[in-house]
Amino acid sequence: MIGENSFWKGRAWIELDKTALRHNVETLRALLPKDCELMPAVKANAYGHGAVYVSQELNRLGVKAFCVATVQEGAGLRKNGILGDILILGYTHPKDFPLLDRHGLTQTVIDSSYAGTLNRYGKRLRVHVKIDTGMHRLGERKERIEEISRIFRYQNLKVEGIFTHLCASDQASPESKEFTRSQAKAFYDVIEQLRRRGFPCPRKHIVSSYGLLNYPELAENYARVGIALYGMLSTRGETELCNVSLKPVLSVKARIALVKDLLQGEAAGYGLQFVASQDTKIAVVTIGYGDGIPRSLSCGTGNVLIHGYKLPIVGHICMDQMLVDISGIPDVKAGDIAVIIGRAGTETITACDLAEQAGTIANEILSRLGERLERPKILLKEYTPKNMLKKNAPISK
Ligand SMILES: *Cc1c(COP(=O)(O)O)cnc(C)c1O
Repeated sequence: MIGENSFWKGRAWIELDKTALRHNVETLRALLPKDCELMPAVKANAYGHGAVYVSQELNRLGVKAFCVATVQEGAGLRKNGILGDILILGYTHPKDFPLLDRHGLTQTVIDSSYAGTLNRYGKRLRVHVKIDTGMHRLGERKERIEEISRIFRYQNLKVEGIFTHLCASDQASPESKEFTRSQAKAFYDVIEQLRRRGFPCPRKHIVSSYGLLNYPELAENYARVGIALYGMLSTRGETELCNVSLKPVLSVKARIALVKDLLQGEAAGYGLQFVASQDTKIAVVTIGYGDGIPRSLSCGTGNVLIHGYKLPIVGHICMDQMLVDISGIPDVKAGDIAVIIGRAGTETITACDLAEQAGTIANEILSRLGERLERPKILLKEYTPKNMLKKNAPISK
């Protein structure tokens, strides 16, 4: 009973389609300008897909750079043998600086004062400098050229890259396009001023998924793609309109624990929210909000696929289970499989569908998929921090 992905499919699980991942990598690579490579965003456990599994697969596909949100995420990749550059996009507390150096990770300089903190750690650290060109989240403000130049002078900082983040590249309005252009211009102005001061910038990057799709000419040396790599955009409408072919990588499935007959007038679930208006058959499906399925899909808002039929979730979704109305569907029995995200027969439910019903974006649905879901097994490689660093050395250009 070892399945395709060679893991035991028990209560509730994630399946990953490597062919779809490869397809997305190839499709996105085809959009890259010359001298640009993918730097997949594998933060938040690779948007719920499983960071080690996905990164191993990406390493096999020749991906040599990754970005994550936290230093622990970066260290976790190294401990599982992931090669290449790993950029920490977010804040790292000084108590965790040793992890940067031990695992050969690259830290984002989130502003000029943080650069001083990194420099005082005393060991030489690899960094990318982030410029705030208008999002007003992380990054040193674009006008503060003196402060930005100072970052390049610190003895202990090995500046290997400089980047900014677009915050309106998903919007089609003329104002948003204008704003995005102004962000890019501000970024290039900073680079020009640095060059004049004798600080040539190594690798540059600007775009994430929407940026790459809408402004491929801004992709410079890296495209930090997340959601598109996983085969969709944030919303269903955008995914349908997107003229690039992307294939969803992830499916979520769960077991039917048992099937139960309700008599007309009987209720089910917490708060007795579902009342059978006629004799009804329900399936108890072994997945709930504790696994990351939004509770807002309760009471007929969301659906699952059983035997190829799209059927409503009834009553309130529980932490560990949910109820599905299977009236009129023949032969459903305990042990059968319900598809929460994925395909069955001619029907499909995507993370974008769940997002729309739950009032959020696919990124949130995916990144909150729970720890409890069983996942494809990963093969562990021999690893010590030392040999990893040595193996890594030739990869960064
Ligand atoms: C998460 C993140 C990305 C990836 O974003 P997608 O929209 O999923 O492609 C890129 N850059 C930064 C700074 C991020 O935080």
